[in-house]
Amino acid sequence: MRLPYRLGHGYDVHRFGADRPLILGGVEIPHNTGLVGHSDADALTHALADAILGAIAAPDIGQLFPDTDPAHKDLDSQQILARAVAEAAHHGYVVGNLDATIVTERPKMAPHLPAMRQRLATTCRITPDRVGLKATTHEQMGALGRQEGLAAHAVALLIARAHPELSPRRFPRRRRNA
Ligand code: MG
Repeated sequence: MRLPYRLGHGYDVHRFGADRPLILGGVEIPHNTGLVGHSDADALTHALADAILGAIAAPDIGQLFPDTDPAHKDLDSQQILARAVAEAAHHGYVVGNLDATIVTERPKMAPHLPAMRQRLATTCRITPDRVGLKATTHEQMGALGRQEGLAAHAVALLIARAHPELSPRRFPRRRRNA
């Protein structure tokens, strides 16, 4: 039976130390180091894509975009997120809302969160008010606290398109000759 709603969770972490721009949520953020990874290493976008794929119990992005494939080198992770949204659509679901938390000591994320929300919303074909985004430090504890890397947690709620259990009053169908 197709569920009216499906919840998914995603997590990702990448190491600092690459001589490349720091990309998060599809936005370039000024910093003295970038993240190591086969794609553009956008941990936030990866966590969100895995949350969407997890909601439909699909294979994760590591299986959809293997890091052994040279075609995915430096890949723009918005393409990965768009693919996750397309997979959800293929299963009959649209993105209801997303929520994510970035965990890093530096750089300060607050000034960049609005641009990230906008970019992620555009990729997911939703409005930015459906993209929750926060950042926190790791209180100087462990690898994240030593600024060895950056992590992101995400959840996604998917909504079934035209599901019979969803009230027709809340999701009215347009009549052709009305
Ligand atoms: Mg990743």
